[in-house]
Amino acid sequence: QAKKDGKNLYRFFDPTMNRLSEERFRMIGGLRKALKDDEFVLYYQPKVNLQTGRWIGAEALLRWQHPSEGLLSPARFIDLAEETGLIVGIGQWVLKQACHQCIEWHKLGYRNLQMAVNLSPVQFTRGNLTAEVRQALDASGLAGHHLELELTESLLLRDAENIRTQLNELRTHGISFSIDDFGTGYSNLGYLSKFQLEALKVDQSFVRKLLSSKQDQDITLAIINIAKSLGLVTVAEGIEDEETLTKLKSMGCEMGQGYFWSKPLPVDEFTDMLARYAEDATQAHQS
Ligand code: C2E
Ligand code: MG
Ligand code: MG
Ligand code: MG
Repeated sequence: QAKKDGKNLYRFFDPTMNRLSEERFRMIGGLRKALKDDEFVLYYQPKVNLQTGRWIGAEALLRWQHPSEGLLSPARFIDLAEETGLIVGIGQWVLKQACHQCIEWHKLGYRNLQMAVNLSPVQFTRGNLTAEVRQALDASGLAGHHLELELTESLLLRDAENIRTQLNELRTHGISFSIDDFGTGYSNLGYLSKFQLEALKVDQSFVRKLLSSKQDQDITLAIINIAKSLGLVTVAEGIEDEETLTKLKSMGCEMGQGYFWSKPLPVDEFTDMLARYAEDATQAHQS
């Protein structure tokens, strides 16, 4: 408590903090404007079936095409968007855009392609998420079973009853759920089994050191085994080389993402790659 009070005083008297709050203020205005002026863009990274090497879906990753600072990654603005509640409007835009894009790819013949969208816990507590997701599906015509929502571990620990109600409602539309960055938050296995999930995504911090650290290898194997015992798919994030890929396959991991296949790409580049790598590329050539 004393520490908290001290911090508040500090904020009033320290000129550096003043500059920080000015910067913050500018960023908040910038985020509002970005939404109004359509400055956000989605990049797409493939989700790959490790056995076949085929791209079975895309994860939508948000970028801000800032008028003066260039392309900004989410690390630069997501926290502030969450604190201010602006993530609700931004998240709604992401959902609409991602569903729309998935349908565009289906029309090109990649009819099984899945779309994964990251959700902030704030969208569950401050927005009307279920209505927004339904709107995004309706407006695009995308079937719910092509949409996967990536949740954080912390979400499932917070106000579990209310969250579970919303997830259940979304699931009636065929939507599936995965847990992002798994292993970095609380791993309350009792909670995990209460929610009907599709996949656990092994955090890239474990994958990166898979070959060099026995501990990270043990954790990764434990996550794969937890997923198996709960009937869930495992997705490894941040696979950058073939050796790591081979190791993960031998450990029983089914899916992956990472620079080994591709960085997140602008939509046109992703579309070009689909012809070569998508699961139903042959169908696409016939049509
Ligand atoms: P995430 O959902 O865990 O996404 C994975 C991040 O790892 C992405 O960063 C991706 O570019 C990066 N990545 C993928 N493969 C590799 C690899 O092989 N090596 C390395 N070093 N990195 C890799 P990005 O796009 O900067 O996104 C960061 C985080 O921002 C995301 O983590 C997600 O939590 C959040 N985010 C992104 N888009 C959205 C969004 O639309 N809504 C919300 N609420 N959060 C988002
Ligand atoms: Mg994600
Ligand atoms: Mg992740
Ligand atoms: Mg992350």
